[in-house]
Amino acid sequence: MNRDQLNTEDNPLEAMLYHFDVAARKLALDEGLYQILTVPDREIRVSIPVQMHDGSLQVFAGYRVQHSVARGPGKGGIRFAPTVTIDEVRALAAWMTWKCAVVNVPFGGAKGGVICEPQSLTDTELEQLTRRYTAAIIDLIGPERDVPAPDMGTNPKVMAWIMDTYSMHVRHSSPGVVTGKPLELGGSHGRIRATGYGVGLMTRESLYRQGLDPKQCTCAVQGCGNVGSVSAESLHALGLKVVAISDIDGALYNPDGLDMGAVRAHLRDHRDLSGLDCGDRISNADLITLDVDVLIPAATENVITKDNAADVKAKVIVEGANGPTTPVAENILEEKGVFILPDVLANAGGVTVSYFEWVQNRLGYYWDERDVNTRLERIMVDSFQEVCGIADRHEVSARTAAYMLAIDRVSAVYKLRGIYA
Ligand code: NAD
Repeated sequence: MNRDQLNTEDNPLEAMLYHFDVAARKLALDEGLYQILTVPDREIRVSIPVQMHDGSLQVFAGYRVQHSVARGPGKGGIRFAPTVTIDEVRALAAWMTWKCAVVNVPFGGAKGGVICEPQSLTDTELEQLTRRYTAAIIDLIGPERDVPAPDMGTNPKVMAWIMDTYSMHVRHSSPGVVTGKPLELGGSHGRIRATGYGVGLMTRESLYRQGLDPKQCTCAVQGCGNVGSVSAESLHALGLKVVAISDIDGALYNPDGLDMGAVRAHLRDHRDLSGLDCGDRISNADLITLDVDVLIPAATENVITKDNAADVKAKVIVEGANGPTTPVAENILEEKGVFILPDVLANAGGVTVSYFEWVQNRLGYYWDERDVNTRLERIMVDSFQEVCGIADRHEVSARTAAYMLAIDRVSAVYKLRGIYA
């Protein structure tokens, strides 16, 4: 692969392949394994007709991609967003393979997406779209095959509809087909907060590594959805001063620290920050270059790019979102001495507790939130130490180290299993 020819600024799949190639070369990965790991095992595109509330029919496009199911069932969220593309879903599926391997949970990587604007759909339309999409991908998913979860634009309610649709088809209640379900349906304590809580843990560890005291640090969080809102709360609980948080329309900024009680109360009842008046309005672009110690991109891909990386002032970036930093931006930031904790570790709290949920569903035995959080912290902190150990030994970035750890674990499984002919 010629890395210079990849379009890494705009295409998340090519950005993922860039990072893969850097780590694979460091590992001197076998050429055959290289080929296996750079293409998805399986992918499907489905058409989803939905009867709209005005009586018209609309057909939506959906995808499910399984990047690898060698280490266990595919695992990965379902994204409902107008910006979904097949390359984005492929990248997200591969990132799930690496993420599950970094935290060493027995899953492969998969991802799904539907091109739609969930906020503009009625509840009935959203339910029909979810159920029809589930029916269309039903042969691919299952507790032993591929286990979806929430991602951008989806939530526990959507998971409940998927679980019910799948269960009706297989003629028995099958909670283990999805994770991120409501508690009443076999969801796990701690799952909704897990990704943001994990981002908090990983920020704490990153700051310690850089010799910084969380209580003396300021931070800005891009995104106030599931990941952004809980990350901001977790950082506040650690003693960091959260000076900015954003939604897709822009950010709220208060250099003295946002009133996190007011932010939390507002986000409990609203999807975004509109109507909340506890800081100055700035743009998402301005948030990225704020003079803060810690930057948490927790919204979407490619927000730290070659165009703004030189202006980033944060000393530590912890990637709550998947793929927020482009490879060119990362090179610029590394030269400035910025520590970047990569997505495949930083936001792995979600899939780790998804794993706990799947285990609990299979056992029929449920844990309390303290148990979940203790186990989550142990896995994430151990993984952080492992990744940093590789980074130090090989003198590579934390991202390359995380990819090296993941590629090594996934290829070991392919070697042991052999190639079925
Ligand atoms: P969400 O839909 O709950 O929230 C997304 C947030 O980002 C919203 O506040 C939205 O307004 C904002 N946003 C969307 N597009 C934006 C843009 N172009 N610029 C600025 N802000 C924008 O989604 P989420 O579940 O919080 O996921 C956020 C990111 O975290 C995604 O990259 C997702 O893949 C990743 N992630 C999520 C989980 C999880 O458990 N939900 C786990 C791991 C990684």
